[in-house]
Amino acid sequence: MPEPLLEVDNLSVSYLTDAADIGAVDRVSLTVHAGEFLGIVGESGCGKSTLVFAIAQLLTPPAEITSGRVVFKGQDLVQLTDGELRHVRWRDYSVVMQSAMNALNPMKSIAAQFKDTMRAHGRISADAIRTRSTEVLHLVGIDAAHLDSYPHQLSGGMRQRAMIAMALLFTPQLVIMDEPTSALDVVAQRSLMTQIKELQQQFGFAVIFVTHDMSVVAHYSDRVMVMYAGQVAEIGATSSIFERPLHPYSKGLLDAFPSVHGPRRALTGIPGSPPDLGRPPSGCRFHPRCSEAMAQCTTSEPDLYIVGETEVRCLLYAERLRDAV
Ligand code: SF4
Repeated sequence: MPEPLLEVDNLSVSYLTDAADIGAVDRVSLTVHAGEFLGIVGESGCGKSTLVFAIAQLLTPPAEITSGRVVFKGQDLVQLTDGELRHVRWRDYSVVMQSAMNALNPMKSIAAQFKDTMRAHGRISADAIRTRSTEVLHLVGIDAAHLDSYPHQLSGGMRQRAMIAMALLFTPQLVIMDEPTSALDVVAQRSLMTQIKELQQQFGFAVIFVTHDMSVVAHYSDRVMVMYAGQVAEIGATSSIFERPLHPYSKGLLDAFPSVHGPRRALTGIPGSPPDLGRPPSGCRFHPRCSEAMAQCTTSEPDLYIVGETEVRCLLYAERLRDAV
């Protein structure tokens, strides 16, 4: 197996407030290989956006990385200075935010924003910038005439496409996407996802894709990481997690989404709501909502257990693995 492009090792992030330290990401480890599509799913507030902001080194106070490493192409990004990060960010990895309207500068045309991004990485001629800007807009299906448009003159779908075009200016090896389609209607969402996948296959970049939409993950990702209360609940190949989810939370998420295959079935939700991360439950963080909880789940914190090629944080598997020995 080749070295991973990205290795996140025991990464923890807290929001350090006067009232409490809120541990939004707790000892998360993951790897992403070149050209791989990793989907990260979970309910709102489970820490998935904080995690990808930490990976991209875009956290701002009061959020702080309290431990762990983010090794990208052999370099620990956590240890780099802002100046060193500027060389890597956007050129080697880029980020597409949830809302392009917030991420793009409303006072500048698309061309001006592309120019700023390219000039931040060195002296590039105006002609070369215009040529590359036209190329990337073309890649996402936007006519070059829109280079001189301002963000408010584009539809929601076109703004997101423009953000993706900007993320591809330097053809990076990793593109981190934080719910880029969540503000779009279903048709625009489907068309944008298809385009992202085609671009990924054409250029071979890896993708980390954050979403709460299980159907997006099912269709487009190679591997899935399910997050709950700041922790990895389960991580493995998309096919095995969708065919045979192990963690009761993964099962609950899948039961809450309709399937286009197989017989019709009633959708069920997961009772309760995610915990306050300032005061997470003792033992397994999912125990107050878990239909399979056992007595020890309230006191013993589960590790991640390896079951086949999947890792799952649930005491049920500690018992099964022990019984199998
Ligand atoms: Fe449910 Fe217990 Fe497994 Fe947690 S450890 S998911 S409470 S069975």
